[in-house]
Amino acid sequence: MKNDTSILLVYTGGTIGMKQDPVSFDLRPFDFSQILEEMPELKKFGYRIDTYSFDPVIDSSDVDTGFWIRLTGLIEENYNRYDGFVILHGTDTMSFTASALSFMLGDITKPVILTGSQLPIGMLRTDGKENLISSIEIAASKDKDGHPMVPEVCIYFESQLYRGNRTTKYTAENFRAFRSANYPVLAEAGIHIKYNTSFIRYPDNWDRPLKACCKLDPSVLIIKIIPGMRQSVLESLTQTPGIRAIILETFGSGNAPSGKWFTDCIKKAIDRGLIVLNITQCPAGRVDMDAYSTGKALKNIGVTGGGDCTTEAAVAKLFFLLGQYTDNKDVEFFLKKNIRGELTEV
Ligand code: ASP
Repeated sequence: MKNDTSILLVYTGGTIGMKQDPVSFDLRPFDFSQILEEMPELKKFGYRIDTYSFDPVIDSSDVDTGFWIRLTGLIEENYNRYDGFVILHGTDTMSFTASALSFMLGDITKPVILTGSQLPIGMLRTDGKENLISSIEIAASKDKDGHPMVPEVCIYFESQLYRGNRTTKYTAENFRAFRSANYPVLAEAGIHIKYNTSFIRYPDNWDRPLKACCKLDPSVLIIKIIPGMRQSVLESLTQTPGIRAIILETFGSGNAPSGKWFTDCIKKAIDRGLIVLNITQCPAGRVDMDAYSTGKALKNIGVTGGGDCTTEAAVAKLFFLLGQYTDNKDVEFFLKKNIRGELTEV
């Protein structure tokens, strides 16, 4: 099979690109430009698969905004040259990177598929080969009109294709490492790859040029509330210098302790000019600050509801919005809007 489909395969680091040293048995990154030698089965696609490896490759725990800017720039530079992009990335922060790319790349017309593995590709029982092969197939897939099947930033892992900004790393051990609790899978790979087209975002204009945006402001702090949290702890956290926004990880549908000290402390932070976004600690479901009086109290003092957004997507969205807008009103307005499929508006 020969066709003119072209894929850019980017290796950033993570377990997938490791090989066991035959003598010491240590895991070491292998030379990714040799991937077609390592996995000759990729040649069977008949696509042009070009590779680009970060140097040095990184464990995804070292991902930062500079990394996201570099990755966005790489996709932007190569956008017109390839039909799709596959990014190999460590699993630990893959959901953050997928979320960030979804905002930074804007409304894309081509697939950007992130994948990785729990076991290195050079190990016999690896999950990396299937993840990589199916990701390439998905990135190259077109519909009958010649348009990409999934023009979104996605994560493919263990037979499931997810919208990237809806995912969370769920397990540190099992092969099905990710979950998308609040949004259906975009595709499932069995004997065939079945696309759930009604859940995929399609552009209104397929000829739209890429308009990436690399202005990010990471002045964000997450406060996860716990039963019995001390007033002094909350007070000191909310007065952390250099932050513009707090993600308050609350209980259930957006509830927090009802004590006056708690609401007073959050209100003081808002009065000092901070944005406070309410995201639930629950892995599934949404914040509804009208459901209980403990949530209503937060709404009344100006806390913004994060709906069914994941913490990862909320972090990336805040970095992105704070980078674009200086006025809190603008940031709060877009936090309540679904801009890249990250939020179900009700
Ligand atoms: N620590 C690794 C990383 O995130 C784990 C992995 O690749 O799955 O880079």
